[in-house]
Order: sequence, then structure tokens, then C-alpha cells
Amino acid sequence: MSIVKKPGAISNWYLPGIISGMIFTLRKMIYNIFHKDKMPTLNYPEEKYEYSPRFKGQHVLTVKKDGSIRCTACMLCATNCPAQCIKIVAAESEDPSVEKYPINYEIDVLRCVYCGYCEEACPVDAIRMGPEWQKPGANGSNFTYDIQELAYRPQLKGGIESRLDEQERHDFGI
Ligand code: SF4
Ligand code: SF4
Repeated sequence: MSIVKKPGAISNWYLPGIISGMIFTLRKMIYNIFHKDKMPTLNYPEEKYEYSPRFKGQHVLTVKKDGSIRCTACMLCATNCPAQCIKIVAAESEDPSVEKYPINYEIDVLRCVYCGYCEEACPVDAIRMGPEWQKPGANGSNFTYDIQELAYRPQLKGGIESRLDEQERHDFGI
């Protein structure tokens, strides 16, 4: 059985609730001014949160030691992508030791769910997900990243070398 309480005379007025709410907010504001170190929020963009090194952020296409792209256009990443946001156009390579390479590799990051399946599926460490997470853009077209953006954007300082090549160099003492 539910009991309906009759509202008292004070609760018929909005003013006491508004005033007590404002006092509470003011008290919190003054407390935060003098205890900035205890605030649960950050003053973004001056202060940024440091994510774990395992954080799966912006994609990176790795490069070989000569600076060319590591990807062999095997399509495993695109096949495994649940959002179907990877588009690869393969071409035959002039290098006889390389069967195929991507002449076009695009990721539509507005559709990407940052699951990391592409990274997991790649057999040659050609795609990784790095710590970058701030990628503002003015319109939708800015969010389809091509090879230039994925492998050679300025933040990568000439490209991230594939671990496979690092390992080969180590194994052969090059
Ligand atoms: S992180 Fe997931 S959704 Fe995004 S491109 Fe890779 S596989 Fe596709
Ligand atoms: S990034 Fe890796 S999985 Fe994707 S096409 Fe290139 S080599 Fe294959």
C-alpha cells in the first residue's frame, strides 16, 4: 500500500530549494578554489589525462627501415574489422621480395569502434593503435585517414618502425 504524503507549507515554495542549492554550489566552488589538487576534474586542454601505454587510440601504419610502408595488403585487418571501416586498394610491388602493397589504405575513424581487432589480426605488425586520442576536425571528410595521415603524420616523426624489422635487424646483427 502506498502512502501519499501531503506536502507541507514550505515545500509549496520553490525558493527554499533554490537558495539551498545555490548555497551548496557556492560552498563547493569555494572549497575547489582552495583545494585544486583534490578536484576530480582536469582543466582541459591545459591539463591532460595520461592514459595507460596499452590504451588503444589513434591508428599507426608502421614503416620498414627504408621508410616504406610495412603493410602487405593481405586484407586481414579489413576482414576482421567489425565496423567495416578499413578500405584497402592493393597493387603488385616492383620489389620481387614483396608480393603486394597498399596503394590506398583508409580508415574511417567515425565508424571505428577502437576495438583493436585490426592490430590483433595483422601478421606483420603493420598496424598499431597508439596513445594519441585528440584528433579534432572541422567536418566529416577530415575523419577518413589515408596512408599519409596513418604512417607519416608529423607526430610520428618520420614513421614508427615495425617490430618485425627491428627483430630481423637484431637476429641478423645488421
Ligand atoms: S579498431 Fe576495430 S573498428 Fe577500428 S579499424 Fe580496427 S578493427 Fe576496425
Ligand atoms: S595492416 Fe596488416 S593485416 Fe592489414 S592489410 Fe596490412 S599487413 Fe594485412
